[in-house]
Formats: sequence, structure tokens, C-alpha cells
Amino acid sequence: MPKPLIVANWKMNGSLEGLKDFFEKLDLREYAEAVVLPPAVYIRDCISAIGNRALAVGIQNIWTEDAGAFTGEISAKMARDIGAYWALVGHSERRQLQKESDELVKQKLECSLKAGMNVIVCVGETLEERLSGQAESVVSKQLKKVLAIDLTKIQNEVVIAYEPIWAIGSGESATLEEVKEMHAFIRNVLLGVLGTLGANVRILYGGSVTAENSADLIKQDHVNGLLVGGASLKADSFSLILNALD
Ligand code: PEP
Repeated sequence: MPKPLIVANWKMNGSLEGLKDFFEKLDLREYAEAVVLPPAVYIRDCISAIGNRALAVGIQNIWTEDAGAFTGEISAKMARDIGAYWALVGHSERRQLQKESDELVKQKLECSLKAGMNVIVCVGETLEERLSGQAESVVSKQLKKVLAIDLTKIQNEVVIAYEPIWAIGSGESATLEEVKEMHAFIRNVLLGVLGTLGANVRILYGGSVTAENSADLIKQDHVNGLLVGGASLKADSFSLILNALD
């Protein structure tokens, strides 16, 4: 497995002034591969502020066509054109607020790969689903529907982010036991769906990751990185997470 992948999802936060300060203060070392997903309007500014440092920039959402009458949307091709190498698809906020289905997430995955991007596919269950014992079946269904494409000839990377919806922004991450169990389960589903290719797919954990819990989370089997929301907005906390394996 390569280095852990640590991804900052800024969601709809940040400012031009703030991002310059963020990258000036960010302590980038060699322990992890880092990706920042700013609001799309700041992608170019992030790329300029990063300069030649080892930190990639991606986009939080894309549309399923390359171009056309889709007011307000941005295509993967356009995002790639301006230097975004990663796309996030299937985030639970979009699944819930914009009612995005697994079918749409699958189309976004295909489109991003076609445009030459690496893709992070988010999956995860609600609290009700976990409490009623359906967490694994929900996640398995999401994975099977979204990954129903031929990945054998794909040059770019597909990464899975397990984000239990109840842990996102709640201040309380899943327990290490819950993370370990679900990541092992996801690995098995990936092996079933993708065959041997499934062994190399990186699986990230996301949901209230902080500077304090990141080292323990990242040491769990089949946790190949982290997707970080709130704690990625400040350079000091995100630096500590990036260097959690120090
Ligand atoms: C997210 O929404 O992707 C996320 C991980 O958020 P937070 O870290 O704030 O829980």
C-alpha cells in the first residue's frame, strides 16, 4: 500500500485571504499524501498558493456531462483542465440535500475517470440504519451500485471513503472497533466486486477526525487514509493530522 491519503474537504468554507494563510502555515512532511478539496471557485488560487509543494487539489462535486445546457454545473473535464486531479463523489451531504442517487454517483465516477481524475467515492450509513443493524447492507449496496463499471482498464485511482453519516460534523467519530469492522467488511466487498483489484483500493475513514484521534484511526487495518472536514479548515490542526504518523 502507498502512503496514507489525507484529504481535506473544506465544503462551502474559506476565503481568498484565508487560503493563502492556510498554505503558508501548512506543515507538509513525507508521512502522507495530501489532497485539498476547496470550493470550486478557489481551485486555481489554491494551486497558485501551493506552488511546487507536494499537495494536490481536487473538486468537491462535478456534473455527469463534459459540456452543455447545465446551468451552474462544472464538468470533470473542466475541473481537470484547470488542474484539479481529484474528484469527490457521493458525499452524504449531496446524497441528502441534493437527493443524489447511487446511479448518479456512478455516472459521476465514470465521468471523472474519463476526464483523467482520481476519484474518492463516499459511502456510509445513517444512525437509524446502524441502530437497526443495517449498516453493512447499506454500505455494501452503495458500493455494488456505484462500482458497477469496468475498472480493469482504468489508469487513475478510485478510493473509497467510509463516512458514517452520524459521525460527520458531530464531534464524535466512530469507535476504533466500529471503524475496524466496517473497513474489513468494505475490503471484502471490494474483493468480491473487483476481484484482486479490490486489494489495492485505498479505504479512507471520515467523520469527526481530529488532531487527537487521527493517529489511532490511521493505524487500524484497512484504514488507508482519512477524509477530514472541520479539522481541515485550520492549518495547525490539518498539519497535525497530516503528520499523525510522525
Ligand atoms: C466530511 O463531511 O467529509 C467530514 C469528514 O466532516 P467532519 O470531519 O467535519 O466530520
